[in-house]
Amino acid sequence: MNIRTRLTLLFVLLVASIVLLFTVSVYYLYDQFREQEFQQRLQEKAFTTIRLREDVGEVPQADLPVITNEQVTVYNKRGVVLFNQGNQRPRFPVTPDFLRKITLRQPQYVRIGDLEAVGVLHLNSRGEVLLIVASGNDRYGLTKLDRLREILFSGWLLSLIIVGIAGYLFATDALRPVAELITQVNAISATNIHQRLSVGRQRDELADLARTFNDMLTRLEEAFVLQKSFVSHASHELRTPLTVMMGQIEVTRLQARTTEEYEVAFDALLDEVKSMIRLVNGLLELARANSDIVTLNYQPVRIDELLWQAQSLIVSKKPAYQIDIDFDNLPVQEEDLVIVGEESLLQTAFQNLMENGCKYSPDNRMSVRILFMPGKIKLTFSDHGYGISQSDIAHIFEPFYRSESTMTISGHGIGLALTQRIIELHHGSIEVESTVGEGTSFRITLLTSSPLKKQVLQSGEPMSSNS
Ligand code: ADP
Repeated sequence: MNIRTRLTLLFVLLVASIVLLFTVSVYYLYDQFREQEFQQRLQEKAFTTIRLREDVGEVPQADLPVITNEQVTVYNKRGVVLFNQGNQRPRFPVTPDFLRKITLRQPQYVRIGDLEAVGVLHLNSRGEVLLIVASGNDRYGLTKLDRLREILFSGWLLSLIIVGIAGYLFATDALRPVAELITQVNAISATNIHQRLSVGRQRDELADLARTFNDMLTRLEEAFVLQKSFVSHASHELRTPLTVMMGQIEVTRLQARTTEEYEVAFDALLDEVKSMIRLVNGLLELARANSDIVTLNYQPVRIDELLWQAQSLIVSKKPAYQIDIDFDNLPVQEEDLVIVGEESLLQTAFQNLMENGCKYSPDNRMSVRILFMPGKIKLTFSDHGYGISQSDIAHIFEPFYRSESTMTISGHGIGLALTQRIIELHHGSIEVESTVGEGTSFRITLLTSSPLKKQVLQSGEPMSSNS
């Protein structure tokens, strides 16, 4: 069932219930009023009859108010009929119980079908107790009641039809902006993702919905553009070494070479292949870290051990690099050295920062300082190298970004993007501070106490988690 039909039905049901309640109340109140009025008339009839009988000695039929099937019966206190006026055959079944109730000096009312009766008690001038029962049909009252019922019922039905039509038109009108939104959203695809929905001048929920859609489209467009530029940058980075390699092979093949010359050419090719492998590995790691659901294999990791390992791996590859590791203070407990995270990813992040520090310093030297604080560890990777300009600092964490001033130094511009994502995955933070010509410091903060750490330490098992 669509929303329009549901709204219409709901509207009809609501109004039908309210009008029905009102109709039933009117009918009930009118019936009460008619009953009271007829009781009054029967009571007057009873007293008039007994007064005429007592004072005049007879009751002239023509002088009395006419009630359909009227009957007035006078009983003595033992229930013996003294006088019967109206229908000669008593039609209303008067029970001894009814008479007894009248003796309690209460006017009594009873209704059997259309026939209604009132019983009253009268004390005549001789001190005799008389019980008078007046009965009859309230033909006019009941006819009016029937008519009222018909009017109310047909009015109710008519109101249902009117409300149904009005509800349908109202729902159609209310949902028109939604239908327009659907048409606009359907018209947006990858080719025109820059298009936005018209919000209109109203400040209502639908305008909010359109605004929310537009925000989502902006995010999608950004991701889309980023994805496109990522692919084109990656292709470009791969094409450059391939072109270089092709040129080297072509030049080498131009003439017959000595063994030494071939060796030099192969070494150059090998360097290019290694550089490509580094790039492809970096790209793969970045893609893994950036995928929507990253499964991290959390386990307890000692930060100091990780840093020493990263240092020795880099130095074994590039012996010219010098990396100093300093502890500002030592933790009281060994547990404060431990964080939970994925060792291989953290290793990659630390290696990137250490390598950059050495790579972008003329003396190939950098240092790492470790500061233990309650619940966290602060790591500062600093160098006295070329530094980064303020305009470049805003972009260095973007994939493939390389500052103009360092273009002569080999690199692909994905190390810092990957490092930032890794630190993010470990719920840490990374900041950079740099002065051109003086050096650069990257500050990383990682938490040493977290609910996840307690969980991992208690279970004693590595724990997988989606982030
Ligand atoms: P890559 O080093 O492969 O170019 P990164 O993503 O690691 O890629 O770094 C991006 C850019 O940031 C570098 O090209 C460089 O210009 C700048 N950069 C990073 N670290 C440093 C540093 N320690 N000193 C100076 N510049 C740096």
